[in-house]
Amino acid sequence: AEQYNAAVASARALNAYTVETPEDALAAADAADKARGNGELGALAGVPLGIKDLFATRSVDTTAGSRILKDFRPPYESTVTANLRRAGAGMLGKLNMDEFAMGSSNETSAYGPVISPWRRKDGGNAALAPGGSSGGSSAAVAARIAPAATGTDTGGSIRQPAAFTGICGIKPTYGRCSRWGIVSFASSLDQAGPMAKTVRDCAIMLEAMAGFDPKDSTSLDLPVPAWEAGLSSDLKGKRIGIPKEYRIEGVPGDINALWDKGIEWLRDAGAEPVEISLPHTKYALPTYYIIAPAEASSNLARYDGVRYGLRVVPEGGNLDAMYAATRAAGFGAEVRRRIMIGTYVLSAGFYDAYFTKAQKVRSLIKRDFEQAFEACDLILTPTAPSAAFGLGDKTADPVSMYLNDVFAVPASLAGLPAMSVPGGLDEQGLPLGLHLIGRELDEQVVLNAGLAIE
Ligand code: GLN
Repeated sequence: AEQYNAAVASARALNAYTVETPEDALAAADAADKARGNGELGALAGVPLGIKDLFATRSVDTTAGSRILKDFRPPYESTVTANLRRAGAGMLGKLNMDEFAMGSSNETSAYGPVISPWRRKDGGNAALAPGGSSGGSSAAVAARIAPAATGTDTGGSIRQPAAFTGICGIKPTYGRCSRWGIVSFASSLDQAGPMAKTVRDCAIMLEAMAGFDPKDSTSLDLPVPAWEAGLSSDLKGKRIGIPKEYRIEGVPGDINALWDKGIEWLRDAGAEPVEISLPHTKYALPTYYIIAPAEASSNLARYDGVRYGLRVVPEGGNLDAMYAATRAAGFGAEVRRRIMIGTYVLSAGFYDAYFTKAQKVRSLIKRDFEQAFEACDLILTPTAPSAAFGLGDKTADPVSMYLNDVFAVPASLAGLPAMSVPGGLDEQGLPLGLHLIGRELDEQVVLNAGLAIE
């Protein structure tokens, strides 16, 4: 019992879960036992999953890592988690995350940061970021306190935390997973996806999560491919594009060395590397940091103290004062920054200069990929320009935090499937990820290349 309690305490010290629901996981295990007797096992029968706190879970706290949704228990279940339940999965609990999925380190959460289970060789016991915004998901899977988890990715939030913690994570093509019941951040970018130890686990999870949903107007009305059955590490005839614009200055040598190794691994699997150009890459980050805050400022207008969660009523105040007091108390600094940026770029005087311009550049970035995919079948890059950084290292400088998304956001803006797979360790013994981007709807080649690297 002592050993068990110590293990539980050290797991809880990671701060990965915001709510624990062991009874839910046990109920799924019991249901799986019964289903086994009837010969009706779902693909995830009895598998206990961690669920990012962005997914609405019926009667279980769903806060998006924000004070403004404190104690909010939705009377409904998100489509993705309902799909997972239909496949037999249970829920271990809700996973910590950056507030409203805004962040790259899980440090903007109202519940405090998640601690990565990894340590630098020369860092003593200094705590590292698990990446973000799906930092609870990445830490829980890496620490083996969840066999797999859900994540969401708006501009890298599945892939970058997967890279930081040495696990796999895939963001499917925009529209594959229903956004219904997922707290909205930037609706034209938000996508759910799995985070797990292996590529195969990701394929199994994604098959269960994906599928058409009439409740999401951007959901793709297409059958879900049998990704797991289609897994093969034979890449004969596939051309891998290596975008020259991703060779950016300031990226540590071991990340570029890993990228070269990745090219060799895919060559060994039968693929042929080709150099490609994605000329608008350098505009992707500024474009993302206009479009995402613009959509966020609109989506977050619904938190007004009337409909959900927190309500702060100042003495003698009117309705406007209640809105202002509630939002001031409920939103953290990063969320407020995004709302202000978003409101600014959407304001009458600046709309054309920023928002319209960003939409145009987004089209050019999309077109870059379309042209590149005439010469290649998938693209290989590093997932992030650094290994996990220390908690607190980047909180004083939001732009340095945003720069960590530099390799992840172009695929998000283009709506393409993209995956991070563990590639190896850097000289500090920290995991580094390789990033695979596929054509629209071609998750299979992404998964297969991931399998070849794994
Ligand atoms: N780190 C990026 C941001 O802060 C991406 C977040 C995400 O993908 N949810 O916006």
